[in-house]
Amino acid sequence: MSKVIIVGAGGVGGVVAHKCAQLSETFTEIVLASRTIAKCNKIAADVKELQGREIRTEAIDADDVAATTAFLEKEKPDLLINVALPYQDLVLMDACLAAGVDYLDTANYEPPETPKFEYKWQWAYRERYEQAKRMALLGSGFDPGVTNVFCAYAQKHLFDEIHTIDILDANAGDHGYPFATNFNPEINIREITQNGRYWEKGEWKEVEPMSVKQVYDFPVVGPQDAYLLYHEEMESLCENIKGLQRIRFWMTFSEKYLTHLRVLENVGMTNHETIDFQGQQIAPLEFLRAVLPDPASLGPRTKGKTCIGCDIVGVKDGEPKRVFIYNSCDHQECYKEVRSQAISYTTGVPAMIGASLILDGLWRKDGVWNMEQLDPDPFMERLNQYGLPWEVIEMPVDAEASDVFY
Ligand code: NDP
Repeated sequence: MSKVIIVGAGGVGGVVAHKCAQLSETFTEIVLASRTIAKCNKIAADVKELQGREIRTEAIDADDVAATTAFLEKEKPDLLINVALPYQDLVLMDACLAAGVDYLDTANYEPPETPKFEYKWQWAYRERYEQAKRMALLGSGFDPGVTNVFCAYAQKHLFDEIHTIDILDANAGDHGYPFATNFNPEINIREITQNGRYWEKGEWKEVEPMSVKQVYDFPVVGPQDAYLLYHEEMESLCENIKGLQRIRFWMTFSEKYLTHLRVLENVGMTNHETIDFQGQQIAPLEFLRAVLPDPASLGPRTKGKTCIGCDIVGVKDGEPKRVFIYNSCDHQECYKEVRSQAISYTTGVPAMIGASLILDGLWRKDGVWNMEQLDPDPFMERLNQYGLPWEVIEMPVDAEASDVFY
C-alpha cells in the first residue's frame, strides 16, 4: 500500500506512469504532476486505456519549492519519483526534505547556466537526509542506474577484483528523421558537446568532444562507432568499486547524427547562453529544442534495438577475466507495451524498479545513495521480471581489453 508522486510528464514520465500502474500491489495510488497538465492528462488517458488504471494528474512548477512542499504535505506520498529535468533535482530534494518524503531521480543535478554534471551538489544532502530519516536514491535510470547495478553485481558475484570498466551504450534504432534526439534534446546536446572525460588510476583525464572513437562489436546490434564521453555514473563508481583502475563511458553515434551536430555547433545553435533576438532573450539551444521533434513523439516511428552494457575486466580465482553484462531492448516492443521508444523505456523501467524496492523495504535506507551502494540482487531479479532482461557473456581477455594492466 503506497502512494507515489511522479514529477515530469515527458518521455520518461510516461513510461514510469505505465510501469507503476502495472504493479498495482506496490503502487496503490499514483499522481502524475508536471508543468504542463495537458501532457499529464494525455499520459493518464493512455495508462487508463493500456493498463486499465486511473491515475490522478496535477499541474506543478517544481522550481517553486514552497508550492511543491505544500503540495507534498497535502498529498502525503511515500515517495517522489523525479523525472523532470536535472535542473529540478535540488529543488525537489529540498521540497521532499521539508515535507518528509523519500526521493528518487534518474539524472544528477546540473546548474542551468553551466553544463556540468557532478554529484557534489546532491551528495551535500547526505547528512540532512540521514538526520531527517529520509532516503534519496540517485540515478535510477539505465545509465546511470542499471549500469551501476551491473557493476555492483559483477563485484559481488563475478570477480574478486575489478580493474577496468567500459560502459557502452548503443542505440541502433532508426526514427526516420534526418536529426532528432532520443531524449530531451537540450540535455542530450549539452552532454555530448562537452569535453570527454574518463578516470584512470585516481585521476580524471580530459579529451576533446568526440575525439576518441572505437568500433565495438556489440551483441545483438553488431559493430558500432562508439565515442568516449563523460557520464555521471563514473563519478560514483570510481569511489565504490574496489580496486578499480580505469573507467570509461562510450556512446554510439552515426556519421549522419554527428554531421548534423557539427553544423548546429558551428552555427551557434547549441549555445545555452541567451542572446537578444528582436528584443527577446532566447537561448539558441532552447530554441533548437522547440524546433526538433519531441522525443516523446518518436515512439511509433522508431525501429531497431538498443544494447547497453558494461565490459568489465578483472581477476577471479587468480585468473584474468572479462565479461560483458548487457540488456538489449526493441523499440517497437516498448511502443506496444507503453507507447514509448526504448530510450525512455530503458530509463523509466529502472526508475519504477528502484521505487518498488524502496517501497517494498528491500532498498529503504536513510541517507543519499547511489545505485551501486545497495544490494544488486533484487534489482537484477526485477529487471528480468519487468521488461529489461540481461545477459552475461564471457569475453576473451585480449590485448586491447587488458592493455593497461596485463
Ligand atoms: P522531457 O523533456 O521529455 O520531459 C521532462 C518533463 O519535465 C516535461 O514534462 C517538463 O514539463 C517537466 N518539467 C520541466 N521543468 C519542470 C518544472 N519546473 N516543474 C515541473 N515539471 C517540469 O525529458 P525526458 O522524459 O526525456 O527525461 C526526463 C529525465 O530523465 C531527465 O532528467 C533526463 O536527464 C533523465 N534521463 C535519464 C536517463 C538515464 O538512463 N539515467 C536517460 C534519459 C533521460 P513541460 O512538458 O512543461 O516541458
